[in-house]
Amino acid sequence: MKERIHTIPVNEAFLSGDECPFCYLERQVEQRVIKYTLGSGASYMEPEVRGETDRQGFCGAHLKKMYDFGNTLGNALILQTYFVGLFEEMEQEMDRFRSPGKRGLFGRKGEEGESTLVQWMRKRQSTCYVCGKIEYNMERYVETFFYLIKDGEFRERVENSKGFCMRHFLRLMEAAPDLLPNSQLDWFYPTVFHLMKSNMARVKGDLDWFIDKHDYRNATAAWGNSRDAVSRTMEKLQGLHPADPPFRSEPR
Ligand SMILES: [Zn+2]
Ligand SMILES: [Zn+2]
Repeated sequence: MKERIHTIPVNEAFLSGDECPFCYLERQVEQRVIKYTLGSGASYMEPEVRGETDRQGFCGAHLKKMYDFGNTLGNALILQTYFVGLFEEMEQEMDRFRSPGKRGLFGRKGEEGESTLVQWMRKRQSTCYVCGKIEYNMERYVETFFYLIKDGEFRERVENSKGFCMRHFLRLMEAAPDLLPNSQLDWFYPTVFHLMKSNMARVKGDLDWFIDKHDYRNATAAWGNSRDAVSRTMEKLQGLHPADPPFRSEPR
């Protein structure tokens, strides 16, 4: 099988034992982007990178992760220029603003009935530099996954994985009809449905036992795989690693 730039990480993710190989990849990209931006390479000082962070800003979740990473001065510099641009645009939008008056029952709904200020704010708040980079990479990982399905060894790796979180299951279901020929779709659907059903049942069983373990009658029984059942259930549902410690510039 021809090696492509993304085949190695995708293969690794399916061997990771993670509740979702795409969450495993997503975490890798996220940490790489945060480290690239704020780490010792100080990419935030490069005009090209700063231009992008000024334009796109950060979502709440990534502001928190940038804060946790450390490099407070780096964060301050990124926020300073972002803030200047945001403030200027906000002032311009406020100057242009005219009250639309109370919206009647049959008034125009949606974008056309909205002020440009509201449209501008929504656009400003919908972008994130880190999310954008994650999305760019995840698209390639998903394409690589479907490309690798041709390979019998990879299909076996998928069959032996723990399935996917609901978020990435949706993503695969959306992309499959565009990226797989019919012959491979015939493998894909039953395999992925079986993986999802059996692994959701497994995680649910772990969660049940986690709860039952709190019954005094089970005090001496073994935990089995249930100690981290809550964080793994959360991952299966929304594709996060809630038990991860904050990703920091250097271990403290
Ligand atoms: Zn996932
Ligand atoms: Zn984000």
